[in-house]
Amino acid sequence: MNRIYLDYNATTPVDPQVLDAMLPYFSADFANASSIHTPGQRARAAVETAREQVATLIGAKPQEIVFTSGGTESDNHAIFGSVAQALLPVRLSSQQSEPPHIITTTIEHEAVLNACQALERQGVSVTYLPVDREGQIDPEAVRQAMRPETILATVMQANNELGTIQPLEAIGRIAKDHEIYFHTDAVQSAGKIPIDVNALNVDLLSLSGHKLYAPKGIGALFIRSGTRIRQLLYGGHHQRGARPGTENVAGVVGLGKAAEIARNSFSHDAQRVSALRDKLEHGLLERIPQIRVNGSRAPRTPNTANIQFAGIDGEALVIALDLKGLACSVGAACSSGAIEPSHVLTAIGLTQEEAKSSLRFSLGRHTTESEIAFAIDAIPAAVAQLRSLSPTYRKEAASRV
Ligand code: PLP
Repeated sequence: MNRIYLDYNATTPVDPQVLDAMLPYFSADFANASSIHTPGQRARAAVETAREQVATLIGAKPQEIVFTSGGTESDNHAIFGSVAQALLPVRLSSQQSEPPHIITTTIEHEAVLNACQALERQGVSVTYLPVDREGQIDPEAVRQAMRPETILATVMQANNELGTIQPLEAIGRIAKDHEIYFHTDAVQSAGKIPIDVNALNVDLLSLSGHKLYAPKGIGALFIRSGTRIRQLLYGGHHQRGARPGTENVAGVVGLGKAAEIARNSFSHDAQRVSALRDKLEHGLLERIPQIRVNGSRAPRTPNTANIQFAGIDGEALVIALDLKGLACSVGAACSSGAIEPSHVLTAIGLTQEEAKSSLRFSLGRHTTESEIAFAIDAIPAAVAQLRSLSPTYRKEAASRV
């Protein structure tokens, strides 16, 4: 069976050029990048080249890039590290003062939400800003949420389920005016839209390799020079102590190469992929009654379509499409298996039922015209079949005629 993969927001395949760049570091060039001998120096040079490549993708300086194990670690490092730094003087002088306050949104990835919730249990105060029906936050709401004890705003750049892009520049200016740190989770935007950390006024930015055609288990955190946050891990002096642990040289090289490819090809990729995404959405809207594209009126990443199919159980549709060879997802990949509807979709005002009837199709570098043509045929047939089996949908459809 021909398999069609429309789940690039869950993960991407490793680009063949990325794999080629990595392979020597598993065999001939296996040395520890902290060793002072020649093989070690070669590994070090490869790590530093990768640091430059990642920095270039986001307009940062190489010394502002810390390699991590992925997006989750980068998010946790930014959030826990900011709070630990803010608490430090208080602990030392054992003064009683208001606990630190963080501003975030209701549609963040669990890597941010669960980190914030863990901190709340330790007494930190967190404001979760609501989003509008398209999944955007109002920068003014960030300004209004500011308190004297606010230390950090963390707002994702693009949402993993909807693709909605947040107005980071405006939020960044507000954060700067209030002299607080501004973190963004750019895991779903890096390589899809241009990123300039200076234009966005961000101090901290998270990246993940496996959303960018590099392998799983490698990521990066941008920490603007002068930003004082505590490290998450304690150990050796790797990466100047910011993130101890022997560097994953092959992974780091892969992330660097992936960043370089993304930078050189993303404007072409973005145009091609958004044309295919639009074709998919229009094709489905023409062929299937009672569907709606979630978040379509906000600026979105070029590759993401989140579609609500009235009267359908999303999981049943994912399985029906899988049987036809098409891979897509319901809610976020990390939460599939859980029965709860997506927190992102309920945050944009969908009912539990509407959220559960929504599917995410995320396209990528290898998506072709013929795959989209197949999807435009396969999805309406699967929807019609599932709806014909649903007594509630049939009854509602009959009452509409
Ligand atoms: N942030 C966002 C927006 C994501 O989509 C994901 C993964 O789905 C993560 C963070 C976590 O990244 P990682 O899988 O590299 O830990």
